[in-house]
Amino acid sequence: MTKADAIVIGAGQGGKPLALSLAKLGWKVVYIERKWLGGTCINTGCTPTKTMVMSAQVAHYARDAARWGVRASGVSVDMPAVIQRKRDIVMKYRTGNEKKVETAGPNLQFVHAHATFVGPHQVEAGGEIFESEKIFIDTGTRPAPPRIPGSDSVGYLTNESLMELHEIPEHLIVLGGGYIGLEFGQMFRRFGSRVTVIHRSGQILGQEDDDVAVALQNALEAEGIEFQLNANSKKVEKHNGEIILTVETSAGSQTFRGSHLLAATGRVPNTDDLGVDKAGITLDSRGYIKVNGRLETSIPGIWALGDVKGGPAFTHISYNDYQIVYGNLIEGKTLTTVNRYVPYSLFTDPQLGRVGMTEKEARASGRKLKIGTYPMSSVSRAIERGETTGFMKIIIDAERDRILGASMLGVEGGETVQILGAMILADAPYTVLKGAVFIHPTLVEGLFGLLEAVKPV
Ligand SMILES: Cc1cc2nc3c(=O)[nH]c(=O)nc-3n(C[C@H](O)[C@H](O)[C@H](O)COP(=O)(O)OP(=O)(O)OC[C@H]3O[C@@H](n4cnc5c(N)ncnc54)[C@H](O)[C@@H]3O)c2cc1C
Repeated sequence: MTKADAIVIGAGQGGKPLALSLAKLGWKVVYIERKWLGGTCINTGCTPTKTMVMSAQVAHYARDAARWGVRASGVSVDMPAVIQRKRDIVMKYRTGNEKKVETAGPNLQFVHAHATFVGPHQVEAGGEIFESEKIFIDTGTRPAPPRIPGSDSVGYLTNESLMELHEIPEHLIVLGGGYIGLEFGQMFRRFGSRVTVIHRSGQILGQEDDDVAVALQNALEAEGIEFQLNANSKKVEKHNGEIILTVETSAGSQTFRGSHLLAATGRVPNTDDLGVDKAGITLDSRGYIKVNGRLETSIPGIWALGDVKGGPAFTHISYNDYQIVYGNLIEGKTLTTVNRYVPYSLFTDPQLGRVGMTEKEARASGRKLKIGTYPMSSVSRAIERGETTGFMKIIIDAERDRILGASMLGVEGGETVQILGAMILADAPYTVLKGAVFIHPTLVEGLFGLLEAVKPV
């Protein structure tokens, strides 16, 4: 039995900085990861997808080059080269993480093995038992298998296997019109696949406002992506190498035939093989670890960080979980996840940058509101770039003139929205930006038009 000051399980975006920071303070830390350092984001999530999104963007620009008065003929996508570029960037990040662990000094003991609780404060990994008063769980999630009869025998792709596919699917059927499904759908459409997105409800990106979701769907349809909404998948079969998906819609039963199937229907937490029952840690009905605002689990001395605790599943949130735990434990702060600021972006083209409340959330809150919308087709920089799809929307608390939320659906929307996020963080009235000086010509200049358009509702 090895005793430690802290055990960190999982090398994701919360676990890594925590393990390294505690070891730097002189704590004896056991850091356990069963697969790759860096977790989902670096290895199979943000980094590889955004790397490949860029390859797809370039293919799109090249095919569309005539729009900018440029002749480019014979454009084709070299998938092995796209994948190699992705692997190179992933490996650069992963080996960077490995270097940090190797050079962390004797306080950090890295164990490359699957960890399971064998008692409330005891963990088994690699045939050894480790014990600590303080244990931090950052085990993340994995793709949820599609619950469609036949999917196991037919076989399906996930975010991980799709990014290792060396051929361009002739017809990719994407199950799920959420963030992951839409980013991959557009990526592979631009690589040259026919793409059909099958979505259970009547609106893609169910949590977003319907005007935003509809505008994005229109933009994706304009590129030739097909959508079947309100579709309940009933079964999937394979005949002569062809995948046949049967769905139930309001118009009756329909079949979709494709060459490849991507499951992007959600994620499940990595808690089923963690032995949480041995520790007495409480899970919610979907298997996520229950925590309070300080990220403490039901067992004193055990915390959970990142996706495994449910809620917003983003890298920057997992990292912020680390900041909260570290701040409270080491710096005597009283940080909490309650009412935390959660910005995010969907990396389609146009991008969707989001901060704060959606319009529907703001309306449901019962506040008096002011709302402004402004088309990207009126933003000079977007016109000059030839990328005018989408619109900006801002929602304001009419009594305090504070920004409640914003959606920037447009080129670089994930960048421009962060100005409005900074206003939320500063608790400053939106009118400050009305008199601001913005660099010309930038996309942010569009805020002039957006703020002028703000009206009481
Ligand atoms: C396709 C895709 C694209 C994404 N794009 C973005 C994006 O653009 N921006 C963004 O902010 N977020 C994005 N995300 C989400 C982001 O990747 C996650 O929110 C983030 O990685 C979560 O980090 P984490 O620390 O919670 O856990 P993870 O990064 O998932 O790390 C958990 C680690 O724990 C390990 N582990 C699990 N169980 C055990 C065990 N029992 N013993 C030992 N080790 C274990 C796993 O191997 C893994 O390495 C994307 C996700 C996907 C799937």
